[in-house]
Amino acid sequence: MIAVAIDGPAGAGKSFVAKTVAKQLGYIYVDTGAMYRTIGLACDRAGILADDAEKIAELLKGINISIKYFDDEQHILLGGEDVSELIRTERVSMLASRVSALPVVRAYLLELQRSFAKSNNVIMDGRDIGTVVLPDADVKIFLTASAKARAKRRVLQLAEKGEKADLNTVLADIEKRDYNDSHRKIAPLRAAEDAVIIDTSDIDRDESVNRVINTIKKGII
Ligand code: C5P
Repeated sequence: MIAVAIDGPAGAGKSFVAKTVAKQLGYIYVDTGAMYRTIGLACDRAGILADDAEKIAELLKGINISIKYFDDEQHILLGGEDVSELIRTERVSMLASRVSALPVVRAYLLELQRSFAKSNNVIMDGRDIGTVVLPDADVKIFLTASAKARAKRRVLQLAEKGEKADLNTVLADIEKRDYNDSHRKIAPLRAAEDAVIIDTSDIDRDESVNRVINTIKKGII
């Protein structure tokens, strides 16, 4: 089985690139951020604070998160309900960032994440795939971009969905999430020592895809 790990901060283009490359190579795309988001959503619905490790540990015993592939996309289910769209709000992004700092949450998701790589060729994206989840991945890529470039993309993405967003607010959210993700004690966001770093600040999506494909081809020959 071949495993490709793509890590990097929010908005660097990981999910688009990973999804496109997975399609081209016939691999399965695994979006691990969606799993943290789903736990964030579950906490919100249960009225549990996203930092309350004890209550979240209890909550995790009673929920079921699963991934299904249909319509050519990854769908994430919370107790059978497809929450793939509901988890894409700014509110859930922040909740995901908070719950992801808890060891109990990371341990809960680790096996689910690893199970995909046991029986499929995968491209998995997240923050700690190359460092923790799949340390033996065949290819590790760290996809990054300046905070400003990422905030601009996010504003455009929201505009496409008909949502207005202020660039400075989005930039502040991205910087806060970057800080949380890279300063937490457990599995912080960082490039694995053997990762290839690709900066997408000044290149478009197609060029990002090309660079990632070339990196994978070099890595698995
Ligand atoms: O990738 P995405 O923006 O959907 O991830 C949402 C949040 O989940 C991130 O800000 C990060 O805090 C957390 N996350 C993580 N480890 C991963 C994937 C996501 O901590 N492997």
